[in-house]
Amino acid sequence: MQLRDDPFLSIANKIPNKYIENNKRNIVGYYCTYIPEELLEAADLIPFRIRATGNEDTNKADTYMVRFTCSFVRSTLNLALDGVYDFLDGLFVCNSCDHSRRMFEIFDMVVFKREGFNKNVPRFYIAIPHILTEEGYQWFYGEISELKNNLEKVYNVKISDDKLNDTIKLYNRNRKLMREIYELRNLNHPKLTGTEALQLAIANSSVPKEIANRELERLLGIFREREGLNIDDKKRILLIGSVVDNAKFTELVESSGAIIVSDNLCFGKKTIMEDIDSNSSKSPLERIAKRLYYRNPSCPRSMDDHKRRLEFVKNQIKIANVDGVLLQRITNCDLHGCDNMLFEHELKELDVPVFNIDRENFQSDYTRFQTRIEAFLEMIR
Ligand code: SF4
Repeated sequence: MQLRDDPFLSIANKIPNKYIENNKRNIVGYYCTYIPEELLEAADLIPFRIRATGNEDTNKADTYMVRFTCSFVRSTLNLALDGVYDFLDGLFVCNSCDHSRRMFEIFDMVVFKREGFNKNVPRFYIAIPHILTEEGYQWFYGEISELKNNLEKVYNVKISDDKLNDTIKLYNRNRKLMREIYELRNLNHPKLTGTEALQLAIANSSVPKEIANRELERLLGIFREREGLNIDDKKRILLIGSVVDNAKFTELVESSGAIIVSDNLCFGKKTIMEDIDSNSSKSPLERIAKRLYYRNPSCPRSMDDHKRRLEFVKNQIKIANVDGVLLQRITNCDLHGCDNMLFEHELKELDVPVFNIDRENFQSDYTRFQTRIEAFLEMIR
């Protein structure tokens, strides 16, 4: 039984959903995993991770961004120019990569200045150091503290430590539930497909967390009860690289003879591995900043941290009993391009088959792509 049409998982297939459409709280969009969601939640905002699911061309966005910009970012801009993101009451951008960073200005100069768009949408920018040092952490903590003050002013709220501690609990619970479900992918007969796992991660980033937690509890029960998947003729794949925000992509991989048993993706394990320390004497804001800054696995934007990312990948290969690794990057994504190139060489030592491909965010050449994936899977003994 596939759960892809489950009402919660279906949220992953489009942008707005009933939970945010019928909500009285402010909904704020954000680019990238480094935005402190717990802080936004404590300001009584609903964080919505910006994605481009369903977008199939970038004609409008190409007017403002050169085609050397990653097609994920251009696709999100295309949707914004079509008004799909008009429901947002705030925008949060950081310098995770140079492509997404530019959305801070482009939303302001183009999207929010569109004819007929009269809403005042506050926007916030956070600078994140590219290396992991004590000074870097102090800088990042300063940025988060300033953001807290700005949120209090702009949205006229008081973000108390009690409120922050409550949201930390809510988010830790959320990550724990996600991890419990994701662990079911490691089994000899996994209880969910990679496509279901991706849908789950996307839906989880698109609704208020108290709703997500309720739905995750329900789905954890279903996944535990259901029989393991019959994967006798499938290869167990670890999927790594640029953001994947469309279940059609993982479906294509899985319909070629694979089951994606683990991942290192922006919508995936990367965001749920580490909790915020609840037993520390540090302030909740410091603990939020520490988790984001030192999190493992980091995004390839963190320089000098490739070794930890490699360890994470090696560990996933072991615990999920992986047959092959699929490295993919969106064309012109230098961050994942460099990391993938290193992984390709490093994983040879482990004798694990690796396939490294470039793609666009929207897949216009499905057949050619599928043929290449099938050829890789056939090569795996
Ligand atoms: S896929 Fe690469 S270039 Fe595109 S937003 Fe992500 S990190 Fe940036």
